[in-house]
Amino acid sequence: MKQDFSRRQFLETGSCAVAAGVLGTTVPSLVSAQSSTEIIREELSHAWVFHGVGCNVFAMPDINGDGVMMVDGGLAEHSGALVDSVLNTFGKDRIDLLVNTHWHPEQTGSNVTLGAQGSEILAHEKTGMYLRNSVQSALFEGRYGPLPEVGLPTKTISGTGRMKYAGQEIIYGYLPAAHSDSDVWLYFTMLDTLVAGGPVTSGQWPIMDIRHGSWMGGLLKAYETLAQVVSADTVVIPAHGPIINGTDILRMRAMYTNLHLDLSEQLNLGMGPKDVVNMGLLDDYINDFGDPNLFLQNAHRSIQRAFVPD
Ligand SMILES: [Zn+2]
Repeated sequence: MKQDFSRRQFLETGSCAVAAGVLGTTVPSLVSAQSSTEIIREELSHAWVFHGVGCNVFAMPDINGDGVMMVDGGLAEHSGALVDSVLNTFGKDRIDLLVNTHWHPEQTGSNVTLGAQGSEILAHEKTGMYLRNSVQSALFEGRYGPLPEVGLPTKTISGTGRMKYAGQEIIYGYLPAAHSDSDVWLYFTMLDTLVAGGPVTSGQWPIMDIRHGSWMGGLLKAYETLAQVVSADTVVIPAHGPIINGTDILRMRAMYTNLHLDLSEQLNLGMGPKDVVNMGLLDDYINDFGDPNLFLQNAHRSIQRAFVPD
């Protein structure tokens, strides 16, 4: 039986997370040279999430003198407003550590600004590789990069590990070929909070950057990995969309497991991307995630490429 992902549930899990702090607040528009940016701030227990800058941004205040930590930086056009908002929130004048969950422009738009101010930038080694080149991205118009040297990661990771920062123990890991082929997750053990990165979205289907290695098997594996990290009430920050929890990750894992089986079966029967769209394999989830057609086509194509290479 299909699982229920009601919008009500997303609202409830979102407000659960908010209950630990204060209600999400809208920062009055902070106008940058190019655009006006309206940022929604949501306070968690001992951390904040900033919405409205191209992706969800997680930030933690300075403890023990380590400095402010920010995970992802939004699009470059919102970077000035975002950085101002984070600094105002914490009453600080610099962000010491920026983590990129992957290389996409929606996540790395503050790299140059913060790198120029001397912030440490931590990312997977493949994020560094992509940012050193000019690449086309799934959602971004035109080519992105190369970023100037100052916006490149100063420290890279390649697999699973642990680090301590600002009094927190953080476990991190790599999710190969899931969304961008450079995706990392971070789990803050004392906060019981997972910053899940690109493979996880709520209220919308994940983007599959199949041009850069994303495929359905990798996406499913990402959920299998994250399902091992969370417990039912873990606060989960998706790359896009409202905050969810560990139970939602388990439900999504079940949904993608079924979809992977269905798509593999249909491929074996000779069905193409349009055929699987017409079959309505994800129609039960339209109310929760929106129109699934693009996601379905990319998911099918990615399996086809994996098993029937050109
Ligand atoms: Zn992305």
